[in-house]
Amino acid sequence: MGGSRKHVVMLPFMAQGHFIPFLALAKQIQQRTGCTITIVNTPLNIQYLTSTIAKDSSKTSPSKSEIRLVALPFNSVDHGLPPNTENTEALSTPQIASLFRSSRSLEPAFRCLISGITAEEGRPPICIVSDVLMAWANEAAKVVGTVNISFNTSGAYGTAAYMSIWLNLPHRSLGGGIKEEFSLPGFPDSCRFHISQLFPFIRAADGTDEWSRIFQPQLSLSLASSGWLCNTAEEMEPQGLEILRKLVKPTVWCIGPLIPPSMLDPSPSSGFAGRTGKEPGVSPEKCLEWLDSHPKESVLYVSFGSQNTISASQLMELAMGLEESEKPFIWVIRPPIGFDLKGEFRPEWLPDGFEERMDETKQGLVVHEWAPQLEILCHKSTGAFLSHCGWNSITESLSQGVPIIGWPLAAEQAYNSKMLVEDMGVAFELTRGVQGSLEKEEVKRVIGVVMETSGKGEDMRKKAVEIGDLMRAAVKEEGGHKGSSVQAMDDFLSTLCS
Ligand code: UDP
Repeated sequence: MGGSRKHVVMLPFMAQGHFIPFLALAKQIQQRTGCTITIVNTPLNIQYLTSTIAKDSSKTSPSKSEIRLVALPFNSVDHGLPPNTENTEALSTPQIASLFRSSRSLEPAFRCLISGITAEEGRPPICIVSDVLMAWANEAAKVVGTVNISFNTSGAYGTAAYMSIWLNLPHRSLGGGIKEEFSLPGFPDSCRFHISQLFPFIRAADGTDEWSRIFQPQLSLSLASSGWLCNTAEEMEPQGLEILRKLVKPTVWCIGPLIPPSMLDPSPSSGFAGRTGKEPGVSPEKCLEWLDSHPKESVLYVSFGSQNTISASQLMELAMGLEESEKPFIWVIRPPIGFDLKGEFRPEWLPDGFEERMDETKQGLVVHEWAPQLEILCHKSTGAFLSHCGWNSITESLSQGVPIIGWPLAAEQAYNSKMLVEDMGVAFELTRGVQGSLEKEEVKRVIGVVMETSGKGEDMRKKAVEIGDLMRAAVKEEGGHKGSSVQAMDDFLSTLCS
């Protein structure tokens, strides 16, 4: 009875892009407070997190990690998913909806777990930190007499737009059907959104569809939590935060960006072991050797994150555009939409002899499935990143002053991209989604603009460096001085521990 340490229980959504910041947050809370941290998830994801933590601690510290990992029974088969489907990797949009629905199957065991901790330790955990998308934990927290804090693993602007859309469905509620252009509740009228920034599943949403029934209750519940943690820094997104705080009434603590400390402070060169938990399709050494053979800021890195891919025709045009741009590139390649993303890659999806030619000429390094992204972005030869605008990719890229070619594909990425282009001036958008046609000429043109060493390309690079500096300042702690994100973390923790 009465464990001496306070306890924090954390519940991430089942996606790679969410585990990464959750783990980083867990480590920070643990290091700053000495609390016991328990992260809960499905059995397969707990296996993944266990190996990630093991690799990480073997690299950075010999001591055993203090983070406890607990697997809860999970049932996605009743929701139509194949056995062992436990995260978003390689899932189609309808399957992701099923995964969301099945996340509720964790709830009974989650409630038992926190009741058990409460009984054993003689007091409840000091808080539950649940993913914004798993806000059902709010109700479970109340039952044991603790608070739930929502953790938003993405940025402020994109989340505010996504939330405003789901809670208002403004493209419909304005009347007269779907508008070509619209503004969003909470956003200034001058901030216009375009219909193409609504991916088909959002465009089809009317409040009664499956996605509305997933997002509307979870987002509403997250608004009723006792506070929000946001994976951004005050200085990075002042406008986005102003808007987010109109929508989110509980305190919002900006404690990010939660990327590996060595990306923000070049002195401890600890490498990134354990960062991804996945085996890359090429070793970091080979990648770095390849990058070493190219001039400074000359290489374009192309990747669509941990779960997205593009259509077969887009894949073909992108390949031709990359080749004809004559710029060196590293491309993380996966089968196109409609095929098993973990299945065999067929040569006919690329121009004849593409991979062999790129290998011979050294113009391109084609990496199947997964690349050591952090090592690539930190290398001086990387000059730009063609990205789907997932939040981790954005913060990792900007931390290194690498400008972005945006190709948003899902979730809130279209709004992240909008902010990068319109507010930060660090990106140029190539296209949106998997429906649109893409011409190789456009690929060439955009690569040319972003990778030029003068004009617009140079401006974007300078601005990316400035944003990287803001990030560094936010997470810096030196002498008596604390950056804004360090201070926010302390404010959050002192509220919690008081
Ligand atoms: N990532 C990686 N190698 C890859 C693809 C992705 O290491 O080939 C990592 C990347 O560094 C980032 C995360 O996976 O930390 C992807 O997160 P993001 O938020 O960008 O996108 P998501 O996968 O959630 O769509």
